[in-house]
Amino acid sequence: MNRFLIACLVWTLSLFSQTIDYDVVVVGTSPFSLLEALYQNNIGKKVLIIEKASECGGSWKSISICGVPHADMGCHYIGSDPQILHFMTEYLGCQMVSLDNPLDSCRLHPSSSFYPSGGCYEFLGQILKLIEKTSIRLELNCSLEKVSIDPLQPIAYIETLEGKISTCKIIYPQYCYFQLADNPHSTPPPASSNFLHLYLLIADPTPPRFSYHSSLGKGISRMMNLTYFANLAETGQQLIVFQSYQPLTQQAAEDYLRLLIEHQLVDKSAHLLNFESYVYEQCHHRSPLFPQTPTNLALFESLDTRGIQLMSQYIPKWTTALKPYKEAMGE
Ligand SMILES: Cc1cc2nc3c(=O)[nH]c(=O)nc-3n(C[C@H](O)[C@H](O)[C@H](O)COP(=O)(O)OP(=O)(O)OC[C@H]3O[C@@H](n4cnc5c(N)ncnc54)[C@H](O)[C@@H]3O)c2cc1C
Repeated sequence: MNRFLIACLVWTLSLFSQTIDYDVVVVGTSPFSLLEALYQNNIGKKVLIIEKASECGGSWKSISICGVPHADMGCHYIGSDPQILHFMTEYLGCQMVSLDNPLDSCRLHPSSSFYPSGGCYEFLGQILKLIEKTSIRLELNCSLEKVSIDPLQPIAYIETLEGKISTCKIIYPQYCYFQLADNPHSTPPPASSNFLHLYLLIADPTPPRFSYHSSLGKGISRMMNLTYFANLAETGQQLIVFQSYQPLTQQAAEDYLRLLIEHQLVDKSAHLLNFESYVYEQCHHRSPLFPQTPTNLALFESLDTRGIQLMSQYIPKWTTALKPYKEAMGE
């Protein structure tokens, strides 16, 4: 056998013997990304999750604010889809309550909007408990910037600060951006949107009068009373968050409290104990532009994550592999 043939044989063998670091790399840690990672793990894939932030959850994370730990980051609405209610109860082990009356179990009112009794902290926390039970690796502070593709086989290389990671599939959510190396269709990174939130911690001796409220004008797009979900019931304190387009100042805090009193959404004796703002930066919706080659179609999969209600399209697939919560936790 001549030297050329031997070289070709060695090269071909090296291709087949190459070990792939992960079958699947999932980008981001919103509930969609985490649940898809669990699904992939349960069908036998070796999974890595990478998250550029220092904490999990994306726009569903919880934060410590106004001295209250584990408050929802922003205002959230899940809706009343019974399929999602069943999934969150039976597969994630969340204790769901009616959003209109969080002291009531939503099982009593199947058509009402529901919410986890412990808010986003409970929602994310339950998923993370399931992830901890698996071999999934979760890397925080790890941003996917660029992906290169092996021209000879369906393998992608993710470039991180720690080096290159090889994988057979990258699953990414809507609100994420990365580039494909040598992609002629590549575009500059999209601008991001800043979601402004103003939190008011108030003293109010009466029980919370609302949980979720859409626009009240004055630059407020929606607001949520987090008192029950942040475990503040019966403390005489209420935590209210506004999603706002206004700059967040002491004046704005006082104006918003006045507005709540005018609309009888808090007691007229309510007064401000503390206020703080929080900005969430989210990349504009722009899936990376890939040439539609068979290799790319095999390597990249995007999740439709525009609203949490869209979980319903994945639940039939996820439940084929995920065990009900009690069984998964060995209870
Ligand atoms: C403040 C706010 C409130 C919302 N409220 C609701 C609601 O009430 N109901 C509803 O249905 N929808 C709501 N949404 C829409 C929400 O965006 C979707 O519900 C869903 O969370 C989107 O998931 P996502 O993973 O695409 O984005 P995100 O939740 O933003 O999560 C993306 C995650 O990916 C990470 N990431 C991004 N790029 C990279 C990268 N290159 N490398 C590594 N990690 C990366 C980010 O750090 C982030 O953690 C809200 C959005 C915001 C911003």
